[in-house]
Amino acid sequence: MTAEAKANILLVDDRPESLLALEVVLADLGQNLVRADSGTQALRCVLMQDFAVILLDVHMPGMNGFETAALIRERERSMHTPIVFLTASDQSEMAVFQGYSVGAVDYLIKPFAPEILKSKVAVFVDLFQMREKARQQANQLVAINQNLEREIAERKRAEQEIERRADELGAVNKELEAFSYSVSHDLRAPLRAMQGFAQALSEDFADRLGPVAQDYTRRIVAAACRMDALIQDLLAYSRLSRVQILLEPLDLRSVMAQVKAHTEGEFREPGALLEVAIPEAFPHVMAHPTTLVQVVTNLLTNAVKFVGSGVRPHVRVWAEERDEWGRLWVEDNGIGIAPEHHDRIFRVFERLHGSEMYPGTGIGLAIVAKGTERMGGRAGVESTPGKGSKFWIELPKGDRPA
Ligand code: ADP
Repeated sequence: MTAEAKANILLVDDRPESLLALEVVLADLGQNLVRADSGTQALRCVLMQDFAVILLDVHMPGMNGFETAALIRERERSMHTPIVFLTASDQSEMAVFQGYSVGAVDYLIKPFAPEILKSKVAVFVDLFQMREKARQQANQLVAINQNLEREIAERKRAEQEIERRADELGAVNKELEAFSYSVSHDLRAPLRAMQGFAQALSEDFADRLGPVAQDYTRRIVAAACRMDALIQDLLAYSRLSRVQILLEPLDLRSVMAQVKAHTEGEFREPGALLEVAIPEAFPHVMAHPTTLVQVVTNLLTNAVKFVGSGVRPHVRVWAEERDEWGRLWVEDNGIGIAPEHHDRIFRVFERLHGSEMYPGTGIGLAIVAKGTERMGGRAGVESTPGKGSKFWIELPKGDRPA
């Protein structure tokens, strides 16, 4: 039922002319008028419909108005339906009526003024419609509430599912890390044995090995060395995911001093030039000391490695402030990188050249990316083939320690 639905009004009188008179008076109210010409018929009506009010003639043959009202009250559906008795002004009847105290009752003494009848009924109609409206709103509220509860339950379920998957992923990740760490670790022992025995073979049995056998043993040693480098890089990479990274404010100048010491060999051999230009007042950056040294070392090692043959490597390092970030640039005069490879080279094992020309494992830049990411920063490159490369890493600025 909508708020505009008509209210039902039950008119009970045995005389058709009285019913008609009631209908004429109440027609203006625009509600749904239902007729009953006896108490029995009235009872039938209240069983089938809800009424805003019942106008009940007291004097009726058979079941009179009071008896009818008593039965109406017995029925669950009409227990609280307001009843207005229509009665003559008779003292004895009034006594009966006053003794009658079930539910909402009222009375009108005949002959009644049409306006009074109309306004009395209108009050009951209003009450009924207000109650209906309240009931509808209550139903709506219940529906909204149920929807909300359902939504909340669904969301909770989804959250639990996400949490469960995250836990699963975390566990799988940990397992994989532990696995790759132990594999890498355990692989190195037999490898060192191969390397050592091949070395021993070529040294201790040099006189008995022909030049071809000597070449083979040399190759075994070289391959074992390459594999060892690979495993060491893999170990370093997987360590990056496992270890706790505690950030502290670091001075990029002292970081560069350590990197220089680490890469001295790589620079000395090709006679490479290193220029570092970081102002003394440059802000500290938030970083993990060993990780940052490792990251920058990898960039410098690449910068001197990937140069055209016969070119003397020239590496420039400088720092730049960018809002909340401190950016460190490493520029080389090397072979450069085509733009389509700029993302790919930061992934594990991605290499653009054969290891005969430029030896390496393809893990260096993966360590750069992973390391800066774990320190809350980013890494990138600007480069064109033949024009050198400019790699950068960006870390959050931090306060200088007191
Ligand atoms: P690796 O150096 O062991 O090959 P990296 O992960 O450090 O592995 O680098 C991946 C690839 O990116 C290199 O093989 C090379 O092709 C390219 N690259 C890296 N640094 C430079 C550079 N400074 N100039 C040109 N190419 C580079």
